[in-house]
Amino acid sequence: MSKQPYSAWYTHSSWRRRRKRQLAQEPFCRLCLAQGRSIIASVVDHVTPHRGDRNAFKHGALQSLCESCHNSAKQQIEKHGFVRDIGLDGKPIDPKHPSYTGKRPTAGSETIPLPPLDVSKLIG
Ligand SMILES: [Zn+2]
Repeated sequence: MSKQPYSAWYTHSSWRRRRKRQLAQEPFCRLCLAQGRSIIASVVDHVTPHRGDRNAFKHGALQSLCESCHNSAKQQIEKHGFVRDIGLDGKPIDPKHPSYTGKRPTAGSETIPLPPLDVSKLIG
């Protein structure tokens, strides 16, 4: 059984209303937008994983993502504990990134430092 016990929560009408409201408030994928791409979001994601906590599921902050960011962000969070994508300003887009928290990545998730982002190449 790979199905989580809380998967049924996503079928509740309260979640569906919340999801709809989130997509109306934030129609574009947050991660794509941070990188200068306007992609319509299709996934409503909990900013902090609820991990089966009903209260966190119902009241935790949400973000709109596209399918591809949702999948890649989830994998990065599972592996590193944060999203490694860098925004247009050359800074990591995830507030949990070690450069903001001052924490070193946990063992086994050594990151290769990214070269400084040349924004002019993206815009030019
Ligand atoms: Zn995206």
